[in-house]
Amino acid sequence: MDDFYDSGELVAVLTTQPLDRLLDYRAPEGGCWQGAFVEVPLGPRRVAGVVWGPGQGGFDPSKIRPVSRVLDAPPMRGELRTFLEKAGDYTLTSLGAMLRLATRAPGLGEAPSTRKVYRLGEGTPERQTDARRRVLEVLRDMGGLSLTKGELAEAAGVTPSVIGGLVKQGCVREEEAPRDTAFPRLDPEQPGKPLTEDQETAATDLRAGLASGSYGTVLLKGVTGSGKTEVYLEAVAECLAQGRQALVLLPEIALTAEFLTRVEERFGARPAEWHSGVTVTERRRVWKQVALGGAQLVVGARSALFLPFRDLGLVVVDEEHDTSYKQEEGVLYNARDMAVLRASICSAQVVLASATPSLESWANADAGKYRRLDLTSRFGAAVLPEMRAIDMRAEDLPSNRWISPSLQGQVRSRIEKGEQSLLFINRRGYAPVTICRACGHQLGCAHCDARLVEHRFLKRLVCHQCGETVPRPEACPECGAEDKLAAVGPGVERLAEEARELFPEARLAVLSSDLFGSARALKAEIEAIAAGGADIIIGTQLVAKGHNFPLLTLVGVIDADLGLQGSDLRAAERSFQLVRQVAGRAGRAEKSGLALLQTFQPEHPVIRAILSGDEEGFWRAEASERQAAGMPPYGRLAGVILSSTELQEVFDLGNAMARQDAPLRRVGAQVYGPAPAPIARVRGRHRVRLLVKAPKGVALQPALTEWAAQFRLKGALRMAIDIDPQSF
Ligand code: ADP
Ligand code: ZN
Repeated sequence: MDDFYDSGELVAVLTTQPLDRLLDYRAPEGGCWQGAFVEVPLGPRRVAGVVWGPGQGGFDPSKIRPVSRVLDAPPMRGELRTFLEKAGDYTLTSLGAMLRLATRAPGLGEAPSTRKVYRLGEGTPERQTDARRRVLEVLRDMGGLSLTKGELAEAAGVTPSVIGGLVKQGCVREEEAPRDTAFPRLDPEQPGKPLTEDQETAATDLRAGLASGSYGTVLLKGVTGSGKTEVYLEAVAECLAQGRQALVLLPEIALTAEFLTRVEERFGARPAEWHSGVTVTERRRVWKQVALGGAQLVVGARSALFLPFRDLGLVVVDEEHDTSYKQEEGVLYNARDMAVLRASICSAQVVLASATPSLESWANADAGKYRRLDLTSRFGAAVLPEMRAIDMRAEDLPSNRWISPSLQGQVRSRIEKGEQSLLFINRRGYAPVTICRACGHQLGCAHCDARLVEHRFLKRLVCHQCGETVPRPEACPECGAEDKLAAVGPGVERLAEEARELFPEARLAVLSSDLFGSARALKAEIEAIAAGGADIIIGTQLVAKGHNFPLLTLVGVIDADLGLQGSDLRAAERSFQLVRQVAGRAGRAEKSGLALLQTFQPEHPVIRAILSGDEEGFWRAEASERQAAGMPPYGRLAGVILSSTELQEVFDLGNAMARQDAPLRRVGAQVYGPAPAPIARVRGRHRVRLLVKAPKGVALQPALTEWAAQFRLKGALRMAIDIDPQSF
């Protein structure tokens, strides 16, 4: 239970300012609760903060100023405060920065904003038209419910001006309604689909976990199409029936639309959404309703983990292996791991769902830390696609062409049968490299250690690192030769060009994040494809994730070897996950699927594992390699990225850090490096990396803190510590 502080008592306040300590204030007139959002004077300004606990004292009592006012927001619960503290300790992030994560966009203390809504008025219009009649019909069907102008216009299929006309005549009433209204209730008692035996076994286990009212994590492993979503929706139902809140994290905004529809079908209403595509006003509403309990279910991106849930009972991390759960800027955290941390604090259950789990989760299940539930077959008549390699060494393919004759034949027969094919290449843009045929110069970004990628659709060259774009030059910037610049290698746009030439009669759909201005446009395209609006889908990894295309029966992986190269220890794991995931898109309905992998190394162990589907064997082999190397998940790893505009400066600091490693050696940790970071220059800053490796079970963070504290960061030097880095 949180404490109450009487007026004048000393309280410690955490502000959202970049200060790494609590500040003492006096509780305001009327007192305040621990966790209250307040405004406090700081120097000449007033800033927002949270009453974190009792004041620490030690200052001249006469100098301590009172809290200016208590803001109109639900107090932050002890559970969330503890989570922020522990997550901050784990990621070595200041508490102020953690608080900023938890208070994104709430607009504390502001009056709730309003919007105009419409409901049925009186009388009939002077002049009846079809459009007018439809508007009134929709409102009549809604019972007393009011709609926004956009909703009403869309439901009636009229232009908004029709509504304006009806308002003038009084047939429709216009009212101001606060935006931060509660969400429509989801009904957990509505029955779901009848489950298969496998699914029922898994669902029963999840329900039992929720009934225990304590913490637990489950790895829900099942091939794509096995019904993982169906099963975890049962867990959501159980959670809601208990009156607790649930959170479902998805790796990609583009997936939310389909998921929202499924939730609506299952529970009769749409849940709250939380991601970068949600307006600030709506985020304020969600934030508040999550705190009040008016949002039962939140669907969102990783940052939703920092919402102020009143009583969080379940967190689902869908596609838990997805690398987008790792936040790579600002506070470096992995949402999957933070979900487990938060759940353990608030006695919630976690469901990690994936067809191809991360090695971390696989190992945790193997060690008995997580329960593991397996769905082994696809739902209904759908069977797993057959997988075969196309040995590219034996294919007769001209240069600058990537669709092999064998693959072409398969695509053609799909077009004839009215079925869909997916050609997958994990490269955005037209071509990954632009080279000068006169001097061999490759066009690179002026600020980064990265090549410029040609995007023909945008008519620009783009740096995928910093986002800088430049027009495609006529002449080589190095030797001045004209008309000698050539595109090398395939990107999704170039593949589309090739497919268009090969199959001029086919309808093509290209799915790459660059080609869609908004999540809405992408959603529309995905729906059109699912409805049969394309014969050939050409896509990047955007298509690998979770979309359901019932007519899709063929997947061609253009370059299955891409990702096998590289020194990254995780390359094999990534490649395995991605290719299996894409292949899983085929044959999700009654028609059986075929996945073809174009490869120059069909004997490669990863390719063989993908083809044979021997997942356990693959994981065991990967695990024993990592174990032998003492690498995660069998050892601990932290990356330290040093950056500056001066290369010498970063190396000097890196070398000094490598030498003065006593605090690390004391706990049995070792330093490697400094070496150029995986991306050695970004936005004009040179980056080097040190890797710190420690045995499992070591208290690594305090040692890292002590070690880093020995060094002063002068001038342009910056240091970022990345616990559990994604690449190593
Ligand atoms: P996953 O999340 O494992 O990819 P889904 O839950 O999306 O699988 O299920 C794949 C498809 O099969 C969906 O269209 C889903 O509605 C359907 N499905 C799965 N289980 C059932 C069931 N028990 N009854 C009816 N349809 C089901
Ligand atoms: Zn760049």
